[in-house]
Amino acid sequence: MTRTLITGANKGLGYETARRLLDAGHEVWMAARDPQRGGAAAEELGGRFLELDVTDEDSVAAAVELVAGAGGLDVLVNNAGIAGARVAVPETSAEDLRTVFETNVFGAVRVLQAFTPLLDAAPVPVVVNVSSGLGSLGLASDPDGPYRAFVMLAYPASKAALNMLTVKWAQAHPRWRVNAADPGYTATDLNAHRGLQTVSEGTDAIVALACLGADGPTGTFVDRNGPVPW
Ligand code: NAP
Repeated sequence: MTRTLITGANKGLGYETARRLLDAGHEVWMAARDPQRGGAAAEELGGRFLELDVTDEDSVAAAVELVAGAGGLDVLVNNAGIAGARVAVPETSAEDLRTVFETNVFGAVRVLQAFTPLLDAAPVPVVVNVSSGLGSLGLASDPDGPYRAFVMLAYPASKAALNMLTVKWAQAHPRWRVNAADPGYTATDLNAHRGLQTVSEGTDAIVALACLGADGPTGTFVDRNGPVPW
């Protein structure tokens, strides 16, 4: 059975990804930083709760030990993310960026590094980085692009960094399938449910990438309709 870990699985896209991968027959570790909300979410779906705060080294190390003791890991979904404060670009400080990068970028690095020995031992190691179209340099710099009106700095910069991590990790681990998913603008707490898609639509790309086999693509950036410009 495919053993899968999803960070930030207590709600939103992470929760729906867990639901769909459980349906697809994966054994799913639903990781969350809050034991009450994470435990309740896992119980609702029949997943396994794992306490994991991506910003906390000790928490990540304890999670690795638990997952290793239970047999290992095939699929890692780096989903946990925050939007950060709504600050206009000229007013955004280094500290604003540091806060968002701590979760969206360093969190993914911390988790991937810690789980690397387990992934290396898997028959087909798969990593899905939950990125965003807002992290696309191609779309952001296109005068006719859809995101010209989006004026925040820290969040898109963090997702652009996550995209580069995706490319570099895919090259460094040729046996792994490492890809970035753009969920699309989806109604969750992250955007006060202003997103236009359902969580089912928002998880299409994540679920497809989480289910790749050894012959699947690696080092790509896709949404539910296909490739997204880097
Ligand atoms: P959400 O409903 O706010 O869920 C975010 C999840 O991340 C929550 O489970 C949250 O846990 C968790 N999280 C935050 N900081 C964490 C930490 N330090 N350690 C562990 N977990 C942490 O938002 P969402 O829309 O589902 O977002 C999921 C991912 O999709 C994010 O990476 C986001 O950037 C990306 N995304 C979303 C959209 C969209 O339109 N919704 C579009 C593109 C990309 P708590 O409940 O404890 O806060």
